[in-house]
Amino acid sequence: MRVEPLIFELSKPGRHGVSVPDLDVPEAPVPDELIREELPLPEVSEIDVIRHFTRLSQLNHAVDIDMYPLGSCTMKYNPKINEVVARLPGFAQIHPLQDPRTVQGALELMYRLQCYLAEIAGFDAVTLQPAAGAHGELTGILIARAYFDSIGDHRRTTVLIPDSAHGTNPATAAMAGFKVVEVKSDKRGNVDIDELRRLAGPDTAALMITNPNTLGLWDEHIDEIVEIIHGVGGLVYNDGANFNAILGIARPGDLGVDIMHFNLHKTFSTPHGGGGPGSGPVGVKAHLARFLPGPVVARNEGGDPEYTWAWPEASIGKIHSFHGNFGMHVRAYTYIRMHGSEGLRQVSEDAVLAANYLLARLRQAYDLPYDRTCMHEFVLSATRQKQRGVRAMDIAKRLLDFGFHPPTVYFPLIVPEALMIEPTETESIETLDAFATAMLQIADEVEREPEHVQHAPHRTFYKRLDEVRANRELNLRWDPQQSAPLPAAAD
Ligand SMILES: *Cc1c(COP(=O)(O)O)cnc(C)c1O
Repeated sequence: MRVEPLIFELSKPGRHGVSVPDLDVPEAPVPDELIREELPLPEVSEIDVIRHFTRLSQLNHAVDIDMYPLGSCTMKYNPKINEVVARLPGFAQIHPLQDPRTVQGALELMYRLQCYLAEIAGFDAVTLQPAAGAHGELTGILIARAYFDSIGDHRRTTVLIPDSAHGTNPATAAMAGFKVVEVKSDKRGNVDIDELRRLAGPDTAALMITNPNTLGLWDEHIDEIVEIIHGVGGLVYNDGANFNAILGIARPGDLGVDIMHFNLHKTFSTPHGGGGPGSGPVGVKAHLARFLPGPVVARNEGGDPEYTWAWPEASIGKIHSFHGNFGMHVRAYTYIRMHGSEGLRQVSEDAVLAANYLLARLRQAYDLPYDRTCMHEFVLSATRQKQRGVRAMDIAKRLLDFGFHPPTVYFPLIVPEALMIEPTETESIETLDAFATAMLQIADEVEREPEHVQHAPHRTFYKRLDEVRANRELNLRWDPQQSAPLPAAAD
């Protein structure tokens, strides 16, 4: 690969990718509103475009390159059969405004996916509209608000959220107009039951719990927790992003959960991390089904057509244009059908086995703040390494030299120098061993030559990015006026 300098601006006036043949039909006028003379499109040849994007893709990590143990994000392999099915013309070349009679196959797939997700997680109704986990959370909490409004209970102003929760949970509750009250975790990483009892009351709209939680631990008091919240008239919302750990083993609906979102782009193998878009369906119990966003797909028993769009009677409205990210529904449906119920259970068993295997291999070299059998992920702490001047971020960067994507770092917030590792079920024992060997070598380097880890990565095109600036001034839009060559690689 040619690396220096990496030219970003490739446009040359008059150059183009395809030569359009001479017109051999009468010319039709282009509607005025479609003509945008001022649009400064880059003028490039086909090979320029291919090389540009291929080169950029090689500067990044991907699940198709190597292991991507980004805790809580479930970066599992995305089976290529999903792509084959999503590209079938009957799915790829239809339009959401088409008459339902002409897209019965697509509607049937959505209807079945609604049913499968409800069955797998123990709910009565599902919406496929939300486009991400966070979007599903907002949908779920708006449903909770609509429910309390409908029964005239206006005292419910707070949402309880454990301190191990993903940041989207408090953001969601605040955005839906609730006051967020944090619940501490106990020494074993569960929700602190005594504190929950103290905080739950007539003002509690919902508890947003993640089970298994972001420490990779199953809450040992889940029955009691549900009882406490239902006891004060509140609803239990389960953040289902970690559903990968319990498929075919436990159903949140059976545990008393009222509302849950799914991350199709985590649990059900649809692409994410740049490859999206995401999809975050929401499941609810029967008493909340009438508040779901509309429309949902309904089955017309013996009717014509068999599948139609229907509006839940007290719907919170639309939360996405059209019907959500349909291409992702096709991929998740394919994944479920390829596995079947036995296969889905094995997915979770293997995910939990892989995480516990890695935990067993790494526990001597790093601190383990919550020493329990883990579920699909576990959280180590680099506090020991920090005493040698090496931080979790340095370890993450050093892993890049071994070809691995780093784990999630500094999250959950209750673990100092957190390294949150989720291998997923799709990695072979050889890959798990290679990752463990890298982590052990890094721990060893911290003892012998900490500067080597502090200055990592050594082998990537870019060294350390200015992450604060990237966060504050994120700019993903190409703009010819601003376009400048990418900075050359350091060293
Ligand atoms: C990923 C994740 C979310 C948010 O999902 P997005 O699809 O990224 O919006 C919420 N909670 C937990 C625990 C997660 O891991």
